[in-house]
Amino acid sequence: MATLPVRLKFWGVRGSTPTPQVENLGFGGNTSCVEIVAPSGESLIFDAGSGIRNLGNEMMRRAAGEPLNVSLFLTHYHWDHIQGLPFFVPLFSPKNKVAFYTGLDSRPVQDVLEGQMSKPYFPIGLDQVAAKREFQVIPEGSSMSVANCTVTPFPMNHPQGAAGYRIEVAGKVIVYATDYEHGDPRLDSVLLDHARNSDVLICDAQYTPAEYETHRGWGHSTWLNAASIAKSCCAKRLFLFHHDPTHDDAFLTALEAEAQAVFPNTHVAREGREIEL
Ligand SMILES: [Zn+2]
Ligand SMILES: [Zn+2]
Repeated sequence: MATLPVRLKFWGVRGSTPTPQVENLGFGGNTSCVEIVAPSGESLIFDAGSGIRNLGNEMMRRAAGEPLNVSLFLTHYHWDHIQGLPFFVPLFSPKNKVAFYTGLDSRPVQDVLEGQMSKPYFPIGLDQVAAKREFQVIPEGSSMSVANCTVTPFPMNHPQGAAGYRIEVAGKVIVYATDYEHGDPRLDSVLLDHARNSDVLICDAQYTPAEYETHRGWGHSTWLNAASIAKSCCAKRLFLFHHDPTHDDAFLTALEAEAQAVFPNTHVAREGREIEL
């Protein structure tokens, strides 16, 4: 029997805040959310930005009334990575189980998420939703196995910290490295090590090199740095991710061409795009 491919779909690619304005909708206005579907058909979700709302609706449709076992990995707790959670429909069915994982051990993940989804910010607390919930930190230096995928978190340079993830499944390697600023020699080499020989590298590219000069310390990188990493770590394919709210479709199209001159197999991540590998 032929092995089914690994699939990856972008549900939200925008950084900082959703931008539902017409000039941005070609690449998309929803914030960070990426789905990896293993050959078994099980999904792993990375981040719960506003893009997770549409993914939740789609997962409920696919489940067709059967229980859902959701595995959600969070990079960190800035708004643009958790703001879709209250609108993630699988949370509201007693049949479902949602497991929250993170490689970030600075604060208890359950406290942080329950603190966000509570009154007066939202009428239903995360501690009251119908789905069963589980919270787990993956300690630095270890991996965890979910749906035949091996997920290895690694620390990244970002205000309050963020975890990147290396995902190995069916002989393929996907690396999710958003909310990362280059320039810390130790953490730069941690990223290079984890991204080595990846089939797909999804990398923070919020700024142009010129914009970066006035945004040092904000926790984000440039398309040029992302392209250099992809080259150095021999990635096969690079997706520029976490687009700045001010970068409209025309701007991102031009930027993609510039980045391709440095690393030819570069794409600007686009909401709704699905790839097979
Ligand atoms: Zn972010
Ligand atoms: Zn952040």
